[in-house]
Amino acid sequence: MLIDTNRKIWVFSISITIFALVVSEALNLLLFPALILPVTMKGTAIIVGVVTMPICLWIGRQMKEKAMMSLQLQALVDRDRLTDVATRDFFFARLTEFPNAYGVSLMIDIDNFKQVNDTHGHLAGDDVIHAVAQILRAQIRDVDIVCRFGGEEFIVFLQNATAEEGWVIAERIRHCIQVATTRTDAGDIKVTVSVGGSLKDRLEHVDEAIKRADDCLYLAKQKGRNRTVVDWPQRGAVEQMRAS
Ligand code: GH3
Ligand code: MG
Ligand code: MG
Repeated sequence: MLIDTNRKIWVFSISITIFALVVSEALNLLLFPALILPVTMKGTAIIVGVVTMPICLWIGRQMKEKAMMSLQLQALVDRDRLTDVATRDFFFARLTEFPNAYGVSLMIDIDNFKQVNDTHGHLAGDDVIHAVAQILRAQIRDVDIVCRFGGEEFIVFLQNATAEEGWVIAERIRHCIQVATTRTDAGDIKVTVSVGGSLKDRLEHVDEAIKRADDCLYLAKQKGRNRTVVDWPQRGAVEQMRAS
């Protein structure tokens, strides 16, 4: 049992104490003559209660402290240090844990980012990556996942989203980034992103969906950047095309 709340400490302590009481009283019944049983049983109950309960409470508190520490450590491992969004490992672990998850995967890459570093410096580049990540976080729901896939590249997984919702969110993200300005010590910086989108159905492995989103991202870059390309047909959109 993972003890991570005070309630669980009490449940743990009371359960162990009741168990100790039952065992000790059973031993009383086995070992002592009926004549002195009322005395021994009462004495045993008091001793077990006074000794076992505080010890269990103490052990429970230690277990809770350890559980909280490991949760905090895990949270540190799961979050990317620069952006505070999920790491790539966390993303794949989650989607492997829930293979039936379906929705829209968006692969998002900052355009011409090398130029940003070359012009404004690496630290300013870091500020831009951080700012883009915050915009992504702001544009998604709690059930969605944003992860820093590497460098200046992110994946957003929109759980249970339809193709239409995926398109709207992808374009909203792209627009928000296009109009945003990141203030850095090296000056104000504006960037754009290219987005590749794919639909993941329940049966598909996440790697396949990511691969198709990546193919679309590649097409978006080829077509001039600052655009969204998805692997499903878009009603009336110029960008609609299939990556494969
Ligand atoms: P494209 O539009 O084709 O994506 O061009 P790009 O210049 O963005 O792509 P490219 O892959 O050539 O460059 C990505 C750059 O991102 C190169 C690398 O130095 C930089 N980069 C990767 N990780 C970080 C980081 O954590 N901080 C900063 N500041 N730069 C990073
Ligand atoms: Mg790039
Ligand atoms: Mg890149």
